[in-house]
Amino acid sequence: MKATNTCPKCQSRKVVMVKGKSSTTHKFWYGSWGRSEKYNRYVCTRCGFSETYAVLSDKFIKWANKNLPEIPEEDNDFV
Ligand SMILES: [Zn+2]
Repeated sequence: MKATNTCPKCQSRKVVMVKGKSSTTHKFWYGSWGRSEKYNRYVCTRCGFSETYAVLSDKFIKWANKNLPEIPEEDNDFV
């Protein structure tokens, strides 16, 4: 929805982005020391379907890289 700007439910292209505000309802908390990140919301103006995306700041990516689970590389299959 974010990438295509098309509603996955009704295929409408009238999708509006609602920017996250610095209020608690538009935030999620991670890590410690009160770190938080904002959400942006994509809302279909035809059927009302909405999706929520976190704002991926440098700060958050740094934290995420440290906290990602170890996933084996699937591309190393071929010999
Ligand atoms: Zn829709």
